[in-house]
Parts: sequence; structure tokens; C-alpha cells
Amino acid sequence: MRRCPPGNSPTKKITPFESQNESFYRANAYIYAKSHNEVRIIAYKERTKPKLLRIYEVLSTRMSLDWENQQYYLNHQKGFEGEGVLDESTETLPPGCLVLNDLLLEHRNSFFQIDALLVCADTLVLLEAKNYEGVHYWGAEKFTKSTGTVLENPYLQLQKSKVKLEILLQSLSCRMKVEAYVVYVNPEFILLQAQNNDNYILPSQIHSYLRTLKLNSQPNAEQKRIADVLVRLHKQDYPATKLPVYQYEHLRKGLSCFSCNALMTSFIGHYMHCPACGERMNVKRLIKNGIDDFRILFPEQKVTTNRMSDWCGSGDKDRIYRVLKENYQAKGNNHGRHYV
Ligand SMILES: [Zn+2]
Repeated sequence: MRRCPPGNSPTKKITPFESQNESFYRANAYIYAKSHNEVRIIAYKERTKPKLLRIYEVLSTRMSLDWENQQYYLNHQKGFEGEGVLDESTETLPPGCLVLNDLLLEHRNSFFQIDALLVCADTLVLLEAKNYEGVHYWGAEKFTKSTGTVLENPYLQLQKSKVKLEILLQSLSCRMKVEAYVVYVNPEFILLQAQNNDNYILPSQIHSYLRTLKLNSQPNAEQKRIADVLVRLHKQDYPATKLPVYQYEHLRKGLSCFSCNALMTSFIGHYMHCPACGERMNVKRLIKNGIDDFRILFPEQKVTTNRMSDWCGSGDKDRIYRVLKENYQAKGNNHGRHYV
């Protein structure tokens, strides 16, 4: 976290959830978020929760995922948490480094994803976050866990992304060199028998590595050009990914707790407590969240008061109507009315 001017507190961070458009991303390195007398700079491009992870999150509360899908979901969730740990480290970098989080790029019909790209004075540093924990035995091609499970050495995939990025940069007439590192963010990760190479960063090395980056006090014109082009080339969504099969009729109905995700089958009053964890929540916000869950699972289906009354579980239909009216745009009349 960077603060300007020093000595003021607390701070508020503007996130892309507050403004999803791309011009926001492009401009935001120079936006100083002013709130409660303090300001702080955020990444040039912030990370948002991937849509696929959101879909799995919603489905996991409303249906039983089979073992394979459950593992896929948990792995993605853990990966996202690991990326968040990396973000906390890169937020400490000075303004001379432009941080682009979570880029999905395409070159010659081939997609590649970058967890974090540090646009430094004359180098681009590509970072891949890994949230592994426990003992792993290093191998040039594969890692072996103490349980015997074998996984691909993540540097192999990263190396492919590095090459694709270099080709893309060449097409953009960018001559900056690219370095790539796998960053192991979990303090409980132990790597044994590692060869002496420098393509990975262990949890205890992250901050000292970041301090070695060559940075000017402010980004130069080429840094800004490249950062802007890459943000513009960023794809919002992955190409069609395999999802679990789900149907509206088979999903559990209700509202899910913000804190523990437990599904509450009914709602009443302005505030209610989660029966599972005791969290006190605003019912309007719960309903809004429930409607957003529906929209992410069924983007093609119409959002109507009747459908949302069924989806959100038993409760006052008027509350649903008011939330729809206040937060979405009405289309159509009478029986055809729906919200977008
Ligand atoms: Zn709860």
C-alpha cells in the first residue's frame, strides 16, 4: 500500500468492482483515491474474481458438486487466494513500477494468462503465483509431493507464456526484455532438492526480490504505452470452459450468507442473522446478491419478479420487486417486464 501524503489515515481503496470499464483501468495508476483524509495508489490494472470461480462458488451452495468438480473449484479458489497474497506484496512497489494483475491475452489464436506483470523501467517481469503448501521435491519437469502425487513444474507453463508474451511484444515494437518467475506465496511451502536456478521465488524471498527491481521515480513513456496496450488487449472472459451441468429446477433456492455461504431458504425483516454462523446481514443486500448469482448462472434467462421470488426463497415478494426496481433497469411492460 502506498500512501500520499504520509501521515493521513485511514485509507480507502478503489477497486474495479466500483467501476468496471476499461478506461478506469487505464487511468487508475494516477488516480489517488481520496477518502477519510487519506489517499493511496492502486495497481494499474486490478484483479477481479474470475467469472468461472464465481459460477463455481454459486453452484457449490446450490447443488452437490461431484468430486472432480469440487476439486476443480477448490483448486481455483486456492489459486485465487494465492494471487491475492501476491497482490499484497506488489502493492508495496513504488510508483515507478506499473502493476498489471490478471491479464488474459491472445496472440495468433492462442490464449495465455498472466497472474501479474510488473512493467519496470526497462524490463517486464512476469509473475506466476502458486499457493502450494507442504513438502515438494523439485524436478526440472515435475514436482513430487511427499504424498507421492506428481505435478508439472509450473515453470514449464510459465516459460510458454513468456515466449508468447515476447512474440506479442515484438509485434508491438516493444524491445523491453522479459523475465519470468514462479512465486510460491504460501509460507508453508517447502521445496527440497531444488537445483540452483533462479526462475522461482520462495515466500521468504518475495520482498527482497521486489526491492532489487530497477525503477525510476515515475514510469516513463514506454512503460505507460506498453501498459496501456496490454490492458486494452486484455480479454474479459476465457474462451468457453467446461462447466458442470446444471439446471434451474435442480438448484436449491434461497439466499446465501456473505460470510459462510450457507443457504437460507427464507428471508424476513430488514436484517437477519445467518443460522449457521450468526452473521447479521442486510436483507436488501442479500437479495441483490442472490439476483446477481442468478444472472451469472443464467445470463440468457429473463430476470422477472416472479422468477426472483422463487429463486430467493420464501419471503415478501414486494421486497424482491423493490430491489429489482432500485438496482436494475426495467424493460417491457406488464407480464413481459424484466430487469437488466
Ligand atoms: Zn453464515
